[in-house]
Amino acid sequence: MSDFPSRDAILAALEGVIDPRSGQGLRTAGMVRGLAIGPGRVGFMLEVAAADAALYAPVREAAEAALKTLPGVTEARVVLTAESGPSSGPAPSHGKAGRAASLSPQATAARPAPVPAGRPAHVKRVIAVASGKGGVGKSTVAVNLACAFAQLGLRAGLLDADVYGPSAPLMLGLQGAPEYGEDQLMAPIEAWGLKAMSIGLLVNADRAMIWRGPMASRALTQMLTGTRWGTVAEPLDVLVVDLPPGTGDLHLELVQKTVLDGAVIVSTPQEMALIDARRAVAMFGKFQTPVPVLGIIENMAYFSAPGTDEPIPIFGRGGAKTEAEKLGVPFLGEIPIDMALREAGDTGRPLVATAPLSATGQAFQKIARALL
Ligand code: ADP
Repeated sequence: MSDFPSRDAILAALEGVIDPRSGQGLRTAGMVRGLAIGPGRVGFMLEVAAADAALYAPVREAAEAALKTLPGVTEARVVLTAESGPSSGPAPSHGKAGRAASLSPQATAARPAPVPAGRPAHVKRVIAVASGKGGVGKSTVAVNLACAFAQLGLRAGLLDADVYGPSAPLMLGLQGAPEYGEDQLMAPIEAWGLKAMSIGLLVNADRAMIWRGPMASRALTQMLTGTRWGTVAEPLDVLVVDLPPGTGDLHLELVQKTVLDGAVIVSTPQEMALIDARRAVAMFGKFQTPVPVLGIIENMAYFSAPGTDEPIPIFGRGGAKTEAEKLGVPFLGEIPIDMALREAGDTGRPLVATAPLSATGQAFQKIARALL
């Protein structure tokens, strides 16, 4: 691949294609997003407003043509991403505009309606981690649960689907951009025995923040199906999906497009958090194909002052357990407030992987075993 063009050469070629809105080259205009470079292949996302989809269709073609003139590039894929209404119906007749960001063949093939839900290829089980509200430790739980599965000897993966606040790059210390290979699937980034993918690795997080529902949910669904999680010989045993907080269209879209084998709800003990957790449990039961709620985890359950084993229930204690009983779903266990857990998350060294024998590490492992 020594004669394959460099990233700079690719960007220089794209600079020759003019952005019709700003009159600048695509690179200067900041229109080259999620540049993925693989053997013989180059792809990126062109994010435009729905109203501009038709305007940018020729730009997409010009960009693909420009990339194909580069030596060594046999395939160029520019995906025009625009908000253009619900995506569950047939593909719009005006071309590829409106498709979400994805480099997978599934995403670019014409889709008959309705789209049958399926698991991502070579993934045996998909477990979603959800919460009614943000800040309860959903991502912390998702990351450490995935690590706990890996420690139990499973082939485990983590999809950070929290489009509006991706945290896996920080919590797992992920480096680099995913590349895509001959099968046109993106290679997940490997870290701590996990295969990981995050929207934060593909687009600028600030950018994702302003996506509206349909666009975000399509990007999410396609990250699920457009990543090489496993192979025939080595399928992934379990994929943990860190969902965005709350109960919204994103979740609905995901459930319609993919099979979720179960959902785990994370809550803190306070009544306010529990009200939202209740909503999340109800949401999974309301889908046309209900998603089994595998249980509730109480995070930040208590604090033990250094040097003592005395649990101090800062936010009250046992609320999630009582709630689980009321709702008739399993209570999976409690995770204490642990400074080491926060520090591990902030430094990209997940606690379960770096201190598996700590009390908190063991608490996660116990929950992982309960989910097997
Ligand atoms: P969410 O995904 O629900 O928004 P995060 O997992 O990002 O929440 O956690 C929010 C913050 O709280 C992070 O700084 C995280 O390290 C910290 N945190 C989460 N759970 C715990 C815990 N059990 N003990 C100490 N800090 C925690």
